[in-house]
Amino acid sequence: MPIHEKSLIRPENIRTHDKLVLDGVDVSGHWSTFIETRVVSDYNERLQEEIAALPGGEYIHRCWQCGSCTNSCTVNAVNPDFNPRYWIYLIRVGMESELLRDKDIIWQCVSCNKCTYACPRDVFPEGVMKATAHWLELKGHTPKSRSTMFDEEFSEQVIATGKIEEGRIIRGFFARSAQPLRQDWLIEMGKRLARKLPFKMGMLLGIAALIRPRTRGWGRSRDAIASYVGEQEQRQRKALSLPEPGAK
Ligand code: SF4
Ligand code: SF4
Repeated sequence: MPIHEKSLIRPENIRTHDKLVLDGVDVSGHWSTFIETRVVSDYNERLQEEIAALPGGEYIHRCWQCGSCTNSCTVNAVNPDFNPRYWIYLIRVGMESELLRDKDIIWQCVSCNKCTYACPRDVFPEGVMKATAHWLELKGHTPKSRSTMFDEEFSEQVIATGKIEEGRIIRGFFARSAQPLRQDWLIEMGKRLARKLPFKMGMLLGIAALIRPRTRGWGRSRDAIASYVGEQEQRQRKALSLPEPGAK
C-alpha cells in the first residue's frame, strides 16, 4: 500500500528548477517542484518475521495502516518524524534501509501506550516500537541503550537472588554504562534518604548491600527462569540469523 503523506517526503528528494520552461510555459521555481522517484531493491523479506520474534512485536502482522497509533502518539505530537504507523509499514514490506534512516528517533517512544489503546487491531504498537529498538541494537545498527543496560542489570540480579537490592542495581548499572557513581543528583538523594529513612530500615538496607540476601529455596526457580531466558534468547538469535555468543 503506497503512503501519501507530506511529512514523509525527505527534503533531499524534493527537486525544484530555478529556471525551467516547458512547451513555452515558464514553470521556474515552485511550479517545477517534483518528488524524485526512487528504486528500492534491497528488501529484507524476513524483516517482519525478525521483529515478530522479539517481545512486543508478535502482532505486527495484524496492522491495517489506519494511522490511529500515530494520531494518538505523544511523541508524534511534538516530533512529526516519529511515526509508528509508517515504521510498521516499512517493516511489513521489508524496507530495511528506509527504516534505518530513522534509527536515531525510534527509541524515543515514551511507552505511554496511548497507541495501544487506540489501535483497533490489537497490534500493540508500543511493543512494536520496543521490539524495533531492540532489533536495532541486536543487529548492531545502534549501540546498546542505557535502558537496555538497566534491564540487563535488573534481570540478572533478580534471576540470581530472587530479590531486588536497589543500591547494588544502581552500582551495577552505573558500572555497565561507564558512568561515574559520584553524580550530584545521586549524592543529594543519598543525603535526603539518610535524613528521612527510619534508622532500622537504613540498617537493613546497609546489611542487604553487604551480604546480598537471596530468597529462600530460590535455586530451582532460578534454574527454571535462567533456562527459559536462555531458550528465548536462542530462538531470537535464530530468527535474526545472529551467531551464537562466543562463535567466530
Ligand atoms: S507508547 Fe510510544 S508509540 Fe505509543 S503513543 Fe506512546 S510514545 Fe507513541
Ligand atoms: S493503530 Fe494499529 S492497525 Fe492502525 S496503523 Fe497503528 S498499529 Fe496499525
